[in-house]
Amino acid sequence: MEIIKNFLEVIINIYSNNPKLLLQTIILITLSILIKIYYIRFRGFMGEFWVKLELRKLPKDKYIILNDIMIKDENGTHQIDHLVLSKFGIFVIEMKNYYGLIKGKEFDNKWCQYLGKNKSYFLNPIHQNFGHIKSLSSLLKLDDKYFISVICFSNQAKIDVKSNSIVTQVDYLNDEILKYKGFLVNNDIKELSKIIIQNNIGDKSLRKQHIKDIHVKIKFDKELENNMICPKCGNELVERNGKYGKFIGCSNFPKCRYIKK
Ligand SMILES: [Zn+2]
Repeated sequence: MEIIKNFLEVIINIYSNNPKLLLQTIILITLSILIKIYYIRFRGFMGEFWVKLELRKLPKDKYIILNDIMIKDENGTHQIDHLVLSKFGIFVIEMKNYYGLIKGKEFDNKWCQYLGKNKSYFLNPIHQNFGHIKSLSSLLKLDDKYFISVICFSNQAKIDVKSNSIVTQVDYLNDEILKYKGFLVNNDIKELSKIIIQNNIGDKSLRKQHIKDIHVKIKFDKELENNMICPKCGNELVERNGKYGKFIGCSNFPKCRYIKK
Protein backbone atom coordinates (compact mmCIF):
# COMPACT_ATOMS: atom_id res chain seq x y z
CA MET A 1 0.00 0.00 0.00
CA GLU A 2 2.82 2.32 1.01
CA ILE A 3 4.58 1.72 -2.31
CA ILE A 4 1.49 2.64 -4.33
CA LYS A 5 0.99 5.76 -2.24
CA ASN A 6 4.59 6.82 -2.80
CA PHE A 7 4.36 6.04 -6.48
CA LEU A 8 1.21 8.15 -6.87
CA GLU A 9 2.83 11.00 -4.98
CA VAL A 10 5.82 10.95 -7.33
CA ILE A 11 3.49 10.95 -10.35
CA ILE A 12 1.40 13.83 -8.97
CA ASN A 13 4.60 15.75 -8.25
CA ILE A 14 5.89 15.28 -11.78
CA TYR A 15 2.65 16.43 -13.35
CA SER A 16 1.95 19.35 -11.01
CA ASN A 17 5.39 20.70 -11.82
CA ASN A 18 4.79 20.20 -15.51
CA PRO A 19 1.17 20.75 -16.66
CA LYS A 20 2.25 20.51 -20.29
CA LEU A 21 3.37 16.93 -19.74
CA LEU A 22 -0.02 16.09 -18.20
CA LEU A 23 -1.78 17.37 -21.30
CA GLN A 24 0.54 15.40 -23.55
CA THR A 25 -0.10 12.23 -21.57
CA ILE A 26 -3.88 12.70 -21.77
CA ILE A 27 -3.70 13.26 -25.53
CA LEU A 28 -1.51 10.18 -25.96
CA ILE A 29 -3.83 7.95 -23.91
CA THR A 30 -6.93 9.23 -25.74
CA LEU A 31 -5.27 8.69 -29.10
CA SER A 32 -4.24 5.13 -28.28
CA ILE A 33 -7.78 4.31 -27.10
CA LEU A 34 -9.24 5.77 -30.31
CA ILE A 35 -6.75 3.85 -32.44
CA LYS A 36 -7.70 0.61 -30.66
CA ILE A 37 -11.41 1.23 -31.27
CA TYR A 38 -10.97 2.24 -34.89
CA TYR A 39 -8.04 -0.10 -35.51
CA ILE A 40 -9.50 -2.00 -38.47
CA ARG A 41 -10.82 1.14 -40.10
CA PHE A 42 -7.57 2.91 -39.35
CA ARG A 43 -5.52 0.04 -40.83
CA GLY A 44 -7.61 0.15 -43.99
CA PHE A 45 -7.20 3.88 -44.21
CA MET A 46 -3.42 3.65 -43.68
CA GLY A 47 -3.13 0.93 -46.33
CA GLU A 48 -4.84 3.15 -48.91
CA PHE A 49 -2.72 6.05 -47.72
CA TRP A 50 0.60 4.22 -48.24
CA VAL A 51 -0.43 3.09 -51.71
CA LYS A 52 -1.41 6.63 -52.69
CA LEU A 53 1.89 7.94 -51.36
CA GLU A 54 3.83 5.27 -53.25
CA LEU A 55 1.99 5.85 -56.53
CA ARG A 56 2.62 9.56 -56.27
CA LYS A 57 6.34 8.82 -56.75
CA LEU A 58 5.72 7.64 -60.33
CA PRO A 59 6.75 10.20 -62.99
CA LYS A 60 3.76 12.49 -63.43
CA ASP A 61 4.29 13.06 -67.14
CA LYS A 62 3.94 9.34 -67.85
CA TYR A 63 1.40 8.08 -65.33
CA ILE A 64 -2.07 9.29 -64.38
CA ILE A 65 -3.29 8.10 -60.99
CA LEU A 66 -6.95 7.80 -60.03
CA ASN A 67 -7.96 6.67 -56.55
CA ASP A 68 -11.21 5.18 -55.24
CA ILE A 69 -13.21 4.96 -58.44
CA MET A 70 -16.71 3.51 -58.61
CA ILE A 71 -18.21 2.69 -61.99
CA LYS A 72 -21.40 0.99 -63.05
CA ASP A 73 -22.03 -1.64 -65.72
CA GLU A 74 -24.80 -4.14 -66.50
CA ASN A 75 -23.55 -6.42 -63.68
CA GLY A 76 -23.73 -3.74 -61.03
CA THR A 77 -21.17 -1.38 -59.57
CA HIS A 78 -17.41 -1.85 -59.30
CA GLN A 79 -15.24 -0.19 -56.71
CA ILE A 80 -11.66 0.16 -57.92
CA ASP A 81 -9.10 1.07 -55.27
CA HIS A 82 -6.42 2.57 -57.51
CA LEU A 83 -5.92 3.02 -61.23
CA VAL A 84 -2.68 3.92 -62.97
CA LEU A 85 -3.06 4.90 -66.61
CA SER A 86 -0.02 4.97 -68.84
CA LYS A 87 1.15 4.21 -72.35
CA PHE A 88 2.68 1.05 -70.88
CA GLY A 89 -0.66 -0.29 -69.75
CA ILE A 90 -3.60 0.47 -67.49
CA PHE A 91 -2.84 -0.89 -64.04
CA VAL A 92 -5.89 -1.87 -62.02
CA ILE A 93 -4.87 -2.11 -58.38
CA GLU A 94 -6.85 -3.99 -55.76
CA MET A 95 -5.55 -3.27 -52.25
CA LYS A 96 -5.92 -5.88 -49.53
CA ASN A 97 -5.03 -4.76 -46.04
CA TYR A 98 -4.51 -8.28 -44.78
CA TYR A 99 -1.91 -9.37 -42.28
CA GLY A 100 -0.46 -12.81 -41.57
CA LEU A 101 0.32 -15.49 -44.11
CA ILE A 102 -1.64 -15.34 -47.37
CA LYS A 103 -1.89 -18.54 -49.39
CA GLY A 104 -3.58 -19.11 -52.71
CA LYS A 105 -3.35 -19.89 -56.40
CA GLU A 106 -4.33 -17.83 -59.43
CA PHE A 107 -7.39 -19.94 -60.29
CA ASP A 108 -8.61 -20.88 -56.80
CA ASN A 109 -12.01 -19.55 -55.83
CA LYS A 110 -10.83 -18.65 -52.39
CA TRP A 111 -7.54 -17.73 -50.78
CA CYS A 112 -6.58 -18.33 -47.20
CA GLN A 113 -5.29 -16.02 -44.51
CA TYR A 114 -3.40 -17.61 -41.58
CA LEU A 115 -3.19 -15.52 -38.46
CA GLY A 116 -1.45 -17.65 -35.84
CA LYS A 117 -3.75 -20.64 -35.39
CA ASN A 118 -6.68 -18.89 -37.05
CA LYS A 119 -7.46 -19.59 -40.66
CA SER A 120 -9.97 -17.65 -42.71
CA TYR A 121 -10.95 -17.63 -46.35
CA PHE A 122 -11.58 -14.72 -48.65
CA LEU A 123 -12.59 -14.47 -52.31
CA ASN A 124 -9.70 -14.69 -54.76
CA PRO A 125 -8.88 -11.00 -55.39
CA ILE A 126 -7.60 -11.77 -58.90
CA HIS A 127 -11.13 -12.90 -59.86
CA GLN A 128 -12.55 -9.80 -58.21
CA ASN A 129 -10.12 -7.59 -60.11
CA PHE A 130 -10.92 -9.35 -63.37
CA GLY A 131 -14.51 -8.14 -62.94
CA HIS A 132 -13.20 -4.61 -62.52
CA ILE A 133 -11.07 -4.92 -65.66
CA LYS A 134 -14.04 -6.21 -67.67
CA SER A 135 -16.15 -3.22 -66.66
CA LEU A 136 -13.33 -0.76 -67.42
CA SER A 137 -12.67 -2.44 -70.75
CA SER A 138 -16.31 -2.01 -71.79
CA LEU A 139 -16.46 1.57 -70.48
CA LEU A 140 -13.31 2.64 -72.33
CA LYS A 141 -14.05 0.40 -75.35
CA LEU A 142 -10.55 -1.03 -75.02
CA ASP A 143 -9.59 -4.70 -75.25
CA ASP A 144 -8.77 -6.20 -71.84
CA LYS A 145 -5.24 -7.04 -73.02
CA TYR A 146 -4.35 -3.40 -72.28
CA PHE A 147 -5.21 -3.84 -68.61
CA ILE A 148 -2.81 -5.19 -66.02
CA SER A 149 -4.20 -6.62 -62.81
CA VAL A 150 -2.27 -5.81 -59.64
CA ILE A 151 -3.16 -7.25 -56.24
CA CYS A 152 -1.38 -5.35 -53.50
CA PHE A 153 -1.09 -6.51 -49.89
CA SER A 154 0.25 -4.53 -46.95
CA ASN A 155 3.97 -4.83 -46.21
CA GLN A 156 3.20 -6.76 -43.03
CA ALA A 157 1.65 -9.70 -44.88
CA LYS A 158 3.64 -12.76 -45.87
CA ILE A 159 2.64 -13.88 -49.34
CA ASP A 160 2.66 -17.41 -50.66
CA VAL A 161 0.65 -17.11 -53.88
CA LYS A 162 1.28 -18.87 -57.16
CA SER A 163 0.14 -16.60 -59.93
CA ASN A 164 1.20 -15.23 -63.29
CA SER A 165 -0.56 -11.94 -62.68
CA ILE A 166 0.95 -9.47 -60.23
CA VAL A 167 0.50 -10.13 -56.51
CA THR A 168 2.74 -7.80 -54.55
CA GLN A 169 3.14 -5.53 -51.53
CA VAL A 170 3.14 -1.75 -51.15
CA ASP A 171 6.96 -1.52 -51.08
CA TYR A 172 7.30 -3.30 -54.44
CA LEU A 173 4.26 -1.80 -56.15
CA ASN A 174 6.10 0.80 -58.22
CA ASP A 175 8.84 -1.67 -59.19
CA GLU A 176 6.16 -3.94 -60.63
CA ILE A 177 4.56 -1.07 -62.56
CA LEU A 178 7.90 0.23 -63.85
CA LYS A 179 8.77 -3.23 -65.21
CA TYR A 180 6.38 -2.50 -68.08
CA LYS A 181 8.46 -0.49 -70.52
CA GLY A 182 6.97 -1.25 -73.93
CA PHE A 183 4.25 0.91 -75.45
CA LEU A 184 0.96 -0.89 -75.21
CA VAL A 185 -1.77 1.73 -75.31
CA ASN A 186 -2.12 3.95 -78.36
CA ASN A 187 -5.02 5.97 -77.00
CA ASP A 188 -4.57 9.34 -75.35
CA ILE A 189 -4.43 8.41 -71.68
CA LYS A 190 -5.66 11.85 -70.62
CA GLU A 191 -8.83 11.24 -72.65
CA LEU A 192 -9.23 7.79 -71.08
CA SER A 193 -8.89 9.20 -67.56
CA LYS A 194 -11.46 11.86 -68.45
CA ILE A 195 -14.00 9.17 -69.42
CA ILE A 196 -13.40 7.37 -66.12
CA ILE A 197 -13.77 10.56 -64.06
CA GLN A 198 -16.99 11.44 -65.90
CA ASN A 199 -18.43 8.00 -65.12
CA ASN A 200 -17.23 7.86 -61.53
CA ILE A 201 -20.05 7.62 -59.02
CA GLY A 202 -19.21 10.30 -56.50
CA ASP A 203 -22.60 10.29 -54.84
CA LYS A 204 -22.42 8.95 -51.27
CA SER A 205 -25.90 7.42 -51.15
CA LEU A 206 -25.29 5.51 -54.39
CA ARG A 207 -22.06 4.19 -52.92
CA LYS A 208 -23.92 3.05 -49.82
CA GLN A 209 -26.40 1.21 -52.04
CA HIS A 210 -23.47 -0.61 -53.68
CA ILE A 211 -22.26 -1.90 -50.30
CA LYS A 212 -25.82 -2.96 -49.46
CA ASP A 213 -26.09 -4.84 -52.79
CA ILE A 214 -22.91 -6.77 -51.97
CA HIS A 215 -24.35 -7.86 -48.62
CA VAL A 216 -27.59 -8.98 -50.28
CA LYS A 217 -25.59 -11.00 -52.81
CA ILE A 218 -23.54 -12.73 -50.09
CA LYS A 219 -26.76 -13.67 -48.26
CA PHE A 220 -28.32 -14.95 -51.49
CA ASP A 221 -25.21 -17.03 -52.33
CA LYS A 222 -25.26 -18.56 -48.82
CA GLU A 223 -28.88 -19.62 -49.33
CA LEU A 224 -28.01 -21.24 -52.66
CA GLU A 225 -25.08 -23.05 -51.02
CA ASN A 226 -27.37 -24.34 -48.28
CA ASN A 227 -29.60 -25.77 -51.00
CA MET A 228 -26.52 -27.37 -52.62
CA ILE A 229 -26.66 -25.11 -55.65
CA CYS A 230 -23.51 -23.52 -57.03
CA PRO A 231 -23.83 -19.70 -56.78
CA LYS A 232 -21.38 -19.30 -59.63
CA CYS A 233 -22.93 -21.46 -62.36
CA GLY A 234 -26.19 -22.87 -60.96
CA ASN A 235 -25.14 -26.53 -61.15
CA GLU A 236 -25.40 -28.92 -58.22
CA LEU A 237 -22.88 -28.83 -55.39
CA VAL A 238 -21.45 -32.23 -54.42
CA GLU A 239 -19.18 -33.65 -51.74
CA ARG A 240 -15.76 -34.43 -53.12
CA ASN A 241 -12.44 -35.76 -51.90
CA GLY A 242 -9.46 -33.47 -52.17
CA LYS A 243 -5.82 -33.43 -51.15
CA TYR A 244 -6.78 -32.04 -47.76
CA GLY A 245 -9.87 -34.13 -47.12
CA LYS A 246 -13.56 -33.85 -47.97
CA PHE A 247 -15.05 -30.64 -49.28
CA ILE A 248 -18.17 -29.40 -51.06
CA GLY A 249 -17.54 -28.29 -54.62
CA CYS A 250 -19.34 -27.73 -57.89
CA SER A 251 -20.38 -30.82 -59.90
CA ASN A 252 -19.46 -28.89 -63.03
CA PHE A 253 -15.74 -29.18 -62.18
CA PRO A 254 -13.28 -28.48 -63.89
CA LYS A 255 -15.37 -25.94 -65.84
CA CYS A 256 -16.49 -24.36 -62.58
CA ARG A 257 -14.11 -24.38 -59.62
CA TYR A 258 -16.53 -23.15 -57.00
CA ILE A 259 -15.84 -24.46 -53.49
CA LYS A 260 -18.11 -24.04 -50.50
CA LYS A 261 -16.39 -22.36 -47.55
ZN1 LIG B 1 -20.42 -24.14 -60.41
